[in-house]
Amino acid sequence: MPRFAASLPEEEPSDPAREGTCAAWVAEMVLIGQVNRAADMIDLSHENGWLVDTEMAYHVQGYVDRLRSRGGRVIAEQFVRLNEMIGGTPDAVAVVDETGTLYGDDLKYGFSPVDPYRNTQVAIYLAAVLATLNTPINKIVIGIYQPRSMHPQGIHRTWETTPEELLSFVEWIKARGNECQDPNSIATPGTHCEYCPAAGSCVALTQSVYKAFSVLTETRQMQLTGPQLARELDFINQVEKMLKARKNAIEAETTERMKGGDYVPGYGLEPRLGPRKFSASPGEIAVATGINPYSEPKLCTPAELERRGANKEVVQRMSTRPHIQPKLTRLGDNHYTRLFEGK
Ligand code: SF4
Repeated sequence: MPRFAASLPEEEPSDPAREGTCAAWVAEMVLIGQVNRAADMIDLSHENGWLVDTEMAYHVQGYVDRLRSRGGRVIAEQFVRLNEMIGGTPDAVAVVDETGTLYGDDLKYGFSPVDPYRNTQVAIYLAAVLATLNTPINKIVIGIYQPRSMHPQGIHRTWETTPEELLSFVEWIKARGNECQDPNSIATPGTHCEYCPAAGSCVALTQSVYKAFSVLTETRQMQLTGPQLARELDFINQVEKMLKARKNAIEAETTERMKGGDYVPGYGLEPRLGPRKFSASPGEIAVATGINPYSEPKLCTPAELERRGANKEVVQRMSTRPHIQPKLTRLGDNHYTRLFEGK
């Protein structure tokens, strides 16, 4: 996958990705002490344009409180490099406590359930943190905190392991990373395609998805047993993830191509506006409204200034709503009727 993905142009992040980045940013700001509580960031927007709302602040505060309830030293966001191919700045947060336990938790703001067991992102992060510690560690706990997703094991799920098992798992990840760079490596579709940036151009995935759809005719009905239900659910989950990977990738590519002027019959781009931002300087805003527009740690939003009593018309004149990624839309039948009629 990395070899295929490296040849692709960089894509704009999707809305769920921007929202997740914004939630991770709020958590980091609280954990490193830039703000006291997540609620202090309501109405601020991340540099990707996503606005912090009350619901996000509530869920992020729950995550921060959960991490802090363990005591110990918090290590938030830091760049991690496993080898020359695997590196990045994960959103995960590590905590080391006095009993020699190293915790690594990741806030997942999306709805699709994420499993902490052998979670590659957090495992890579903890292996890197482990290498920097000079205190003995005897237990590793990987956690996924997913406040908006219903799960029988609750919103905070964990996997306990040992430092030895963690390091051997990370060695396994490195070996798979090396295999991916092999010029003769082949693409094998599966649930791992879900977040693959090459899913839009991967022939193996395309053909696997086509194979999952074949029409048979049958008159008999059947009642599934428990084990059959389990196998059926496993199969449907796998096909669903592959289909989702393909759909997301094709939608992203269609959007980019249409923004570049390509014509895709039956589809259009619906413009969307992001949250309001000031277009005037802080000094001009203060003079025009008589209100200090600062809200630690940065300029407040136009909505926040209005709540503080600023005149709405004045704020309107000094702010703008930038265009964000347009929404790909299936045009209705009327579109074709109009085309036939030459309108
Ligand atoms: S879409 Fe799936 S099979 Fe194709 S390159 Fe990506 S991970 Fe591999």
